[in-house]
Amino acid sequence: MKAPPFAYARARNLAEVFELLAAHGDGAKLLAGGQSLIATLNMRLSSPRLLIDITRLTELSGIQVRDGVVRIGALTTHAEIERSPEIRKHLPLLAQAAPYIAHPAIRNAGTIGGSIALADPAAEWPACCVALEAQFVIAAKSGTHRVAARDFFKGLYATVLRPDEVLTHIEIAASGPDRRTAFVELAQRRGDYAIAGVAAVAKRAGGVLTDLRLAFLGMGQAPVLARNAMAAMEGKRAVADTIAAASEALSRDLDPAPDLYSSAATKMHLARALTGRALAALAA
Ligand SMILES: Cc1cc2nc3c(=O)[nH]c(=O)nc-3n(C[C@H](O)[C@H](O)[C@H](O)COP(=O)(O)OP(=O)(O)OC[C@H]3O[C@@H](n4cnc5c(N)ncnc54)[C@H](O)[C@@H]3O)c2cc1C
Repeated sequence: MKAPPFAYARARNLAEVFELLAAHGDGAKLLAGGQSLIATLNMRLSSPRLLIDITRLTELSGIQVRDGVVRIGALTTHAEIERSPEIRKHLPLLAQAAPYIAHPAIRNAGTIGGSIALADPAAEWPACCVALEAQFVIAAKSGTHRVAARDFFKGLYATVLRPDEVLTHIEIAASGPDRRTAFVELAQRRGDYAIAGVAAVAKRAGGVLTDLRLAFLGMGQAPVLARNAMAAMEGKRAVADTIAAASEALSRDLDPAPDLYSSAATKMHLARALTGRALAALAA
């Protein structure tokens, strides 16, 4: 199928984006990497009257580290994050997750901002951002505000973003030397969206994991922060006890729906198995 007709405008700065959004309301869509939006147009799942190309907004690109905070522009591509020495050093979880996103050609064009705004529940960046307690910087004509990742995702492809707003940056505290991270997922084929996955973060001191955070992808309508498992794991000295506590508590955090390939019971089994792998990696 072919996309329905639409008008196209290439914005030169954020002010132009806000003008166009104000004039066209929810009849306009921002175009970033186009790796999801163009497919939805071609399948006629979406029919905006205007595409606003934001790819020339250099102020929305790049990775900076300042005062212990990593600031990632919304237009930074998956591949730039995957290859960035700053990300490997300060946010290794993102470097661990990036290779699971689609294929190299898609990672070269797709952006972190597009992935977060789209809010696919099986996407890698939203779960990583929830695990890392990221803050999203959102701009509109009326000003800029920040939203915590855990408050941003509202359901299946649903977020708090309004049609007149642009996600401009993602801010995440740089990992200290005691922070451990692990990312594991299972997909039908390499490069497919995950059937299930988990982003795991902890501190490790004296051989003990503390401040554990587990955020799941593919296990609900949005990324799921496993609060019960996180509480149950605290204070356990042996990794086997940590895994057992998480495994038991996960049934209170996760209630997956079956998908094309897996029953809900299979997805729960996979979530427990992946959690065991992630916790073993954190403790290694
Ligand atoms: C075959 C295939 C496999 C894929 N597999 C995976 C996968 O395994 N994991 C995964 O995470 N993704 C996967 N993707 C999706 C890919 O990661 C996309 O890059 C991503 O979902 C969207 O980013 P984009 O920059 O292409 O956004 P676009 O497609 O340009 O936009 C997506 C949506 O976000 C909005 N938007 C974009 N940027 C902003 C912004 N800054 N502020 C507000 N709204 C904005 C757009 O208006 C649109 O509604 C796959 C895609 C394909 C085609």
